[in-house]
Amino acid sequence: MICEILSVGTELLMGQIANTDAQYLSRRLSEYGVNVYRHTVVGDNPERVKLALNEALSRSDMVITTGGLGPTEDDLTKEMVGEYFGLPMELHQPSLDALTERMTRLHPHRKMTANNLKQAYFPKGALVLPNSRGTAPGCVVEAEGKSVAVLPGPPRELTAMFDESLEPYLREKTGLVIHSRFLSIFGVGESTVESILEDLFHLGSPTLALYCGPAEVQARLTVCLPVGEDPAPILDPVADQIQRRLGPSLYAQGRDASMARTVLSMLRERGEALCTAESCTGGLLSARLVEIPGASAVFTHGFVTYTPAAKQSVLGVPQDILEGPGPVSAPCARAMAEGALAASGADYALSVTGYAGPEGGTPEDPVGTVYIGLARKGGSLVKQFRFLGDRDWVRTLACVHALNMLREHLLDV
Ligand code: ATP
Repeated sequence: MICEILSVGTELLMGQIANTDAQYLSRRLSEYGVNVYRHTVVGDNPERVKLALNEALSRSDMVITTGGLGPTEDDLTKEMVGEYFGLPMELHQPSLDALTERMTRLHPHRKMTANNLKQAYFPKGALVLPNSRGTAPGCVVEAEGKSVAVLPGPPRELTAMFDESLEPYLREKTGLVIHSRFLSIFGVGESTVESILEDLFHLGSPTLALYCGPAEVQARLTVCLPVGEDPAPILDPVADQIQRRLGPSLYAQGRDASMARTVLSMLRERGEALCTAESCTGGLLSARLVEIPGASAVFTHGFVTYTPAAKQSVLGVPQDILEGPGPVSAPCARAMAEGALAASGADYALSVTGYAGPEGGTPEDPVGTVYIGLARKGGSLVKQFRFLGDRDWVRTLACVHALNMLREHLLDV
């Protein structure tokens, strides 16, 4: 099946937002063997939407539109699809009921406007896709041997609608299901992973692809099977083979895997607690941890001590360390971790102090130098890292390396 994505939104053309909807859809569609040949962006202009739709449908079997689905006057994508196929707009009663229920719950004293009602109208015969995270449902219109799926712009609405409604539609249409296995690898470069797994790229089924993240590589195994067929006999042996070759560098499996999730689940299994003491990451490490639901069972405190005075008063870093080796040094990272451990009563403390740049640093410790400390009852260790990149990149790498340092320690004890 050949598909094109048509994104509607003047804010996309003006560079105010990036077209992450098209990126998400392309990624998900490729899992279904759907070939995406083009992304087009047009502003909120009915004539240009219709023209773009006309062009896209002349080249493809399916067009997926994003945006322009809401209640306002410039939200006209659905109407343009109806007009293109010559289909009148019709009220979809279940959508009106759901909309009325939602609006009454959210705004009990507000009357629904005609604009709002527009969200319950669809081109005649459309398959309506409920919106579990917003008011505007999407739809699929099939006509003249083509299909057009109309999805909302807000990414959290679009991704949910894809997963809940469009994916089952595609599955039924193609009779195929794509099964993927995600394997997260830390600390081994992409080219090294590629050479270690070289022969596995030529299996045919499953296919193997690599994606790069901060200090990480994600390997994805994919197999496309008729609905109802079990993918395990195809995916398991290859995943096992990859695990054997990469050893503990392969730290997790699953679409939602992250270093923070892995460390939290290791600590949860052991019934142990973690706290953080951050300087240059300024709370980013704590944020990575609390992004994971259920973090409160493990994560007790996040100390952000940015100035030397804060390091001293909150974590008890001794004056002679701050004035001697300085706040960016191995002794300071150690003292921060030990101070946080004592203040929190947690089982482990991770500390981060470094020069994130663009200014700062010393000839011995240039910008990008980060010291990471790990304290536990009965001992502590510190590692020095040199990260290359801008401020955000250095801080991101510091967090993932700090978490990995704890992970490696937990694997050893
Ligand atoms: P609403 O009901 O909120 O009006 P909509 O379906 O009409 O939703 P738009 O009005 O086009 O969608 O966009 C709403 C918001 O969704 C935009 O301001 C933007 O933040 C986000 N958005 C829209 N299109 C995209 C896109 N292609 N990629 C990422 N974000 C998008």
